[in-house]
This record gives sequence, structure tokens and C-alpha cells, in this order.
Amino acid sequence: MYQKMKGTYDILPKDIDKWLRLEKTIRTVSKIYNYKEIRTPIFENSELFHRGVGSETDIVSKETYDFLDRGKRSNTLRPEGTAGVVRSYIENKLYASNASIQKLYYMGPMFRYERPQKGRYRQFLQFGVEAFGSNSPQLDAEVISYAVNILKALKIKDVEVHINSIGDVESKATYKEALLNYLAPNINNLCTDCQKRYTTNPLRILDCKIDKDSEILQNAPKPLDYLNNESQSHFTETVAYLDAMKINYKINKNLVRGLDYYTHTVFEVNANIDTLGAQNTICGGGRYNNLVKSLGGPDIPGIGFAFGLERLMFALESLSFKGDPDYLHLYLMILGDEQKADGMAILNRCRLGGLFADIDFLDKGMKAKWKQAAKLNTRFVAIYGANEKENDVINVKDQETGKEITIDKHQLYNHIVEELMKPSAACESCKEDNCDECGE
Ligand code: ATP
Ligand code: MG
Repeated sequence: MYQKMKGTYDILPKDIDKWLRLEKTIRTVSKIYNYKEIRTPIFENSELFHRGVGSETDIVSKETYDFLDRGKRSNTLRPEGTAGVVRSYIENKLYASNASIQKLYYMGPMFRYERPQKGRYRQFLQFGVEAFGSNSPQLDAEVISYAVNILKALKIKDVEVHINSIGDVESKATYKEALLNYLAPNINNLCTDCQKRYTTNPLRILDCKIDKDSEILQNAPKPLDYLNNESQSHFTETVAYLDAMKINYKINKNLVRGLDYYTHTVFEVNANIDTLGAQNTICGGGRYNNLVKSLGGPDIPGIGFAFGLERLMFALESLSFKGDPDYLHLYLMILGDEQKADGMAILNRCRLGGLFADIDFLDKGMKAKWKQAAKLNTRFVAIYGANEKENDVINVKDQETGKEITIDKHQLYNHIVEELMKPSAACESCKEDNCDECGE
């Protein structure tokens, strides 16, 4: 009897729905962000990954599946999505299309020859995005908020966004020199991989899994302290936009992405989920202003991230979340015929603003209406009856927090959007969402 290859897994019919739901949620959020799907081949010319990911990275030096085809061409099963998307972007001249900026996403299998363990496979699924054509820190902030809002839509709350900047080419060079000088007398005390990285890829020493917590690395110079003015303002602006969007993050001065083409912003999202153990990084990303050019395209900046879908699925399972993306932001209960016209106007305004909203057309009783709201997976239930009409107000209940308030009826849309913007990271002290008592 044959068995599946090590590090692979089957998705059986009984489990297919939850995968489809996960994919659907991702596509819904992608639509909101105006990113378009791109599908590229599962294998590419090996050279693409050597150049695009970097020959000295773990991914390429230890983890690729390579094969010669019958024409003696060297092929590699894609270990990640960025290189293929950039190849396609250049080959199809997507940079010349009407939209001067291209916002793309992909979802599909990747292959890495790794030691399989929970959350680490040889064939695994990634969802990733790549945005080309702008060096604006607004785009850095958009991409990070996109990753955060995917998690929000999936109701995965206990997450941490770590962010850092490694600066532009000039800042990186200054920093690299400082790091090499600092490490020179200590290098023999680091692991053998780090000793190799000293010559091949010194930045990567900072996030070595073995030496990460050693005193040598803790005291090492940090990229953030070597940014030139332009890189510093790129970073300052990026975090200012995150603050404006109420996105929680931690600046992690040791965070690097080892690949040469990364510049400026780098980030990672960790989920605090016990079952994930050491594999709790669910998303990694960053800006790569030099990649398109180094793969033979024009000098066009880019930024992206990639999620591991199995790790997302573990997070969802441990929360026993059904992952139902067929949710509503608003279920409006209109009580009494005289209120119907007003109610339709309120509903229309919310829908035009982009909220998923609905009402009960069947004039059912209150109990049935609440049941329906729950069935539709509704976040906010608003009630508009004769009393409310008389006072120009509307009553809103947040089904997630249980909070109920009465507000000016013209403010319903704004109120819901404000609430949706609140960070969903759980409070550190009580693990409650947007906890009032801790004020956090
Ligand atoms: P790690 O440090 O866990 O090896 P990585 O830096 O190799 O991660 P990336 O190349 O940034 O990971 O890939 C982005 C995401 O893809 C990771 O955060 C993770 O969720 C997922 N991922 C990476 N490798 C695997 C794998 N072998 N199996 C399952 N998921 C993976
Ligand atoms: Mg890895």
C-alpha cells in the first residue's frame, strides 16, 4: 500500500468546507482592499529562485525541490510566491498597464524540503499579496492593515504585529559594516550557521533561531539605529499611519528578513495559540524595492506578505471558530409600518458605505428577528421603532461585546465603522477584547 509523501497531507471531503470558508474570507477582504488574484505556475526555472529569493537563504540552499526535466532544463517547485509573481509582472509588462500601481494576491501550494512537524510541511498553502509601483509609506501601512484585517475577519484576536525597518540600500550598507565590526571578535561564539552567515548574509544572524537570545546578539547594533534620513522618515510615517488606523504593533529591533532585496519595512504577525508551539508566526512580509530590477524588470518598488494557511487553520480550530464568512455587519429591525421608509433610508446609507446589511422583510416577531440576526452571523443589530423615530435616534447592540447604546439615527453608519476600526487585539491583562476596566 502506498502512503502519502512525508510532510504532505490530504484534505478529505469532511474538511473541505472549512478550507473553502477560509479562502472565501480571504477573497472577501482582498476585494475590499482592491487586490486582484494572480495565478502563476507551480514550477519555475530554478534560476529564478536563486536570483529572486537568494542562493544563500535557507529556502534555496536547503529546502527546494529541484528536478531536471527531459529537456535537461533545471526546474524548481516554487518554495514561495513572490519570485513567480514578480517574474510574471515583468514578463507580462503589468507595469505598463493603465493602473500605475498593481495590487495582486495569490493563494496556492508551496514546496519546501523541511523537517515536517506541526505547522511545518513539505507541501503547504500560502496566501500572499504583492503591491508594485509605489514607495509610499501609505502602501506599507495598507499592506500591514490588510494582514491585520484578514485576522480580524477570521476573528483571530490574540495576535501581535512586529515591525521594523532595515532601511534603504545605503542604510543597509552602513549597518552591515557596523554589524560585521561588532561581531568580528565574537563570531566564534555563535553557531556554525551564523559563522557562515557572517560572510554570506550577516543580517540574518540577528534572527538566528539558536543564538537569538544570546548576549552577543542582544547587544548587537540594530538596523533601526543606522537609518539615513530618508529611511527614518519612511519608517516614522509608516507607524504614524498605523497609529491613525488604530493598528496595534510592536517595534522589534531584531526583526530582519534576510533576503538582499528587502528594504525599509519588515514585519511579522504572530498568533498566541498554544497548539502552534514554535510555529506561531503566521505571516511575514516586507518592502522589496530592489527585487523587480534585480530580476531584470524596470526599477519599480514593491511590498508584500505571505500567510501560511495551515497555521491559520490551526488558529481557527483552536478557537473552534466556524469561519463562516457569510456574516453581516448590520441587521436592522424596523418596528412598525410608519418606520419603514426611514428604515430603508438608513439601510441604503449603510450599504452604500460598504457595510453588509440586511433587514427582516417578513414582519416576524422580535424573537424570530433576533434568531435570524444570530443565524446571519451579525455583528450589530439596530432597532428602529416608533420611540426611536420620535426622538430621531436608533438603538444599536454589538453582538460581539454585548454593548447596547442609543445614538442619533444619522450616526448609525459612522458608529458601526468606528467600532469596526477598534483594534481587536485582546487586552494584555484580562485577555478581553477592548476591555473597559483595564482601559486598554
Ligand atoms: P519559519 O521561520 O516558520 O520557517 P519562514 O520565514 O520560512 O517561516 P516565510 O518564508 O516568511 O516563512 O513564509 C511565510 C509564512 O508561510 C510563514 O509565516 C508560515 O506561516 C508559512 N510557512 C513557511 N514555511 C512553511 C512550512 N514549511 N509549512 C507550513 N507553513 C509554512
Ligand atoms: Mg522557514
